[in-house]
Amino acid sequence: YQKIPMQTPLVEMDGDEMTRILWKMIKDILILPYVDLKTEYYDLGLENRDRTDDRVTVESAMATKKYGVAVKCATITPNAARVEEYHLKEMWKSPNATIRAILDGTVFRTPIIVKGITPFIPSWKKPITIARHAYGDVYKNTEAAVPAGAKAELLITKADGSEEKHLIHDFKTSGIIQGMHNLDSSIESFARACFNFALDTKQDLWFATKDTISKKYDHRFKDIFQEIYDGEYQEKFQQAGIEYFYTLIDDAVARVVRSEGGYIWACKNYDGDVMSDMVATAFGSLAMMTSVLVSPDGTYEYEAAHGTVQRHYYKHLKGEKTSTNSMATLFAWTGALRKRGELDGNDALAAFADKLEKASIDTIEEGVMTGDLASMSSLSNIKKVGSEEFLLAVNDRLQKLL
Ligand code: NAD
Repeated sequence: YQKIPMQTPLVEMDGDEMTRILWKMIKDILILPYVDLKTEYYDLGLENRDRTDDRVTVESAMATKKYGVAVKCATITPNAARVEEYHLKEMWKSPNATIRAILDGTVFRTPIIVKGITPFIPSWKKPITIARHAYGDVYKNTEAAVPAGAKAELLITKADGSEEKHLIHDFKTSGIIQGMHNLDSSIESFARACFNFALDTKQDLWFATKDTISKKYDHRFKDIFQEIYDGEYQEKFQQAGIEYFYTLIDDAVARVVRSEGGYIWACKNYDGDVMSDMVATAFGSLAMMTSVLVSPDGTYEYEAAHGTVQRHYYKHLKGEKTSTNSMATLFAWTGALRKRGELDGNDALAAFADKLEKASIDTIEEGVMTGDLASMSSLSNIKKVGSEEFLLAVNDRLQKLL
């Protein structure tokens, strides 16, 4: 087989535990034999993050800014137990949070749909992609408990020293208050990331807030989306034959449930937090959910939406056979390879990514799958296989497609 050449390297961010094992298997079995793979490698495994005082995470994000496309393995976000387990110098921050802060992106999560795994909502035929705004609101709030007899006010002190005051509540009895914010610039970036992703994937974009109740805060989100759409995207959307659709969040939820899928649902931070878990669960499995961080200046970082599958890793370390689902990690690779192919005008690379995805979906639809899917699938001829066996079965089909 003549290996497909690459022009520009992918930024490769290696990770932890079972997904690190899958990472190497995917490369060895399904990519290196077919692609003359060029990557700039960053080891985001927890040991190396600790060794480099987490500089490696920052460097990998800067490389993503430079080259434009990255593929990331799941990584451990340390907690107290991990600090002990890995004898860490510090409880390092979540790598995803660090990378997101540098790339200032929006995260799009999309389920991988296969025959035999039926969504809990039977009308859903196509994927629903959730785009979650990842800045501000309740995640950067200030809260207080308020005693009876207190008066709570919002006070804005402007640059010129003048003040603006708004009464929140005169507390006859005790209660609570919360202050939160967002930035026009962040909402604008979010809107552009969503419009660009809709054009990229040729899907409609839905957006919803509670602007009827929140006439300044949520209304600002609605207005910014509309202004950017009218000014920069309307024509492009018409040319692509796609639509931008705004509605109230409660109406959106009702429409999503009755829909067939096949669109992007842009959500404010909290809505996205809650709805992405609902959508992932309703589609069947976190192991079948891909995720891509898209920045407003057009960089892409692909990953699986799940974690490092710690329990399977401990089994693997004991020498036991694992049956871990590699689909989301595999689709992170195909997503990154396809995008690299598109950006470099490398059609062979993009076509390879399509074929690899088809081979892996065919494998599952022909009944060969890992344990997590085997317990959910409605197919009658199921063959439950181990982590590596699954990838070998995909390779059999890939060879026929190439
Ligand atoms: P997890 O996603 O690893 O596992 C959650 C559950 O889903 C487990 O029961 C697991 O068996 C199952 N599962 C997930 N992916 C699977 C797959 N591919 N195949 C089969 N089963 C699968 O999340 P967790 O256990 O909460 O976290 C483990 C570690 O992952 C933590 O250290 C956490 O910090 C990290 N994490 C990383 C990311 C990321 O890098 N994006 C995201 C979430 C969690």
